[in-house]
Amino acid sequence: MKGLVYKIESKDYYILDENKNSIRCSLRGKFQKEFNLKKNKLFEVDLVVVGDFVEFTLNHDGSGVIESIYERKNFISRKAPRIKGASFRGERLEQKIASNVDNIIIVSSTQNPQFNNKTIDRFLVIGESSNVNCVIVINKIDLDKENNFKSFSDLYKKIGYSVIETSVNEKIGIQELKNILSNKINLIWGQSGVGKSSLLNAMFPILNLKIGDVSQKTSKGKHTTVTSILKKIENETYVIDTPGVREIEPYGITKEDLGHYFIEFKDFINECKFNTCTHFHEPDCAVRKAVEENRISLERYKSYLNILETIEDDMNF
Ligand code: GDP
Ligand code: ZN
Repeated sequence: MKGLVYKIESKDYYILDENKNSIRCSLRGKFQKEFNLKKNKLFEVDLVVVGDFVEFTLNHDGSGVIESIYERKNFISRKAPRIKGASFRGERLEQKIASNVDNIIIVSSTQNPQFNNKTIDRFLVIGESSNVNCVIVINKIDLDKENNFKSFSDLYKKIGYSVIETSVNEKIGIQELKNILSNKINLIWGQSGVGKSSLLNAMFPILNLKIGDVSQKTSKGKHTTVTSILKKIENETYVIDTPGVREIEPYGITKEDLGHYFIEFKDFINECKFNTCTHFHEPDCAVRKAVEENRISLERYKSYLNILETIEDDMNF
């Protein structure tokens, strides 16, 4: 039988079967250990992740056993946050977030908290490197009477992204966003206070999520839950809650790779003199030239350098 993993709590894997019944499963033994050739050691690994479609069998007591994992269409992870004990010889480990995600909905707000394109670009890099469709939401457009958000909205549209401008208060863009989420598995990302819960409530009143006021939310400790939880909203519409996404950092991206995840750089990268060009200090860099000629936005290039710097830091451990 086929199931969808929606929650993982230590060794318990909760799945929805095809009739949307919840079943608690364990893993078949062969999944629990993996031989790592490089380190010549057996490692306890968690191969199953929220969003996985799995084949399972039922025990007499109604619990299940996961027998195999169906091929994933994508897989999202990040660098594990800097927590004592979570690192291995200074190397930061990979933290699995989810698989089989259809949309990453990147929510920002025009104000309160202030619009932050660097955060959007960081989320986009993770989405692009995981091969997931990214949608940008600019919320609270009612607060921006001068429409200052428009220049960024136009920039992202020009690059090729879908941008949805919304206001929960004035009910703008809600149906448009709902159409994108419907019958899909969605990750909703964005800083605290941008209006993620408000938007979800506006689209799906049945959720009835708690809306926080911005100042209250940011002062609260946010590290209570660790793993993602997939929630069924209606029919085949799902939202994945990912705790602590404020600090999300891409995992396993090299300096040479990063440019490929700024999708508008692609037209220029092949023209760089060196095929290992990081578009920073190398001579004859076509990306830098494109920035000088305004064919690539300076703001995006600054975001690029910003992320590039964090990759370098990690390699110098
Ligand atoms: P979350 O932390 O991203 O889930 O944000 P919330 O949904 O809890 O919203 C944070 C605050 O922003 C709340 O006080 C909401 O009422 C407010 N808010 C959400 N959407 C809008 C909007 O479109 N316009 C305005 N003016 N305020 C909004
Ligand atoms: Zn270059």
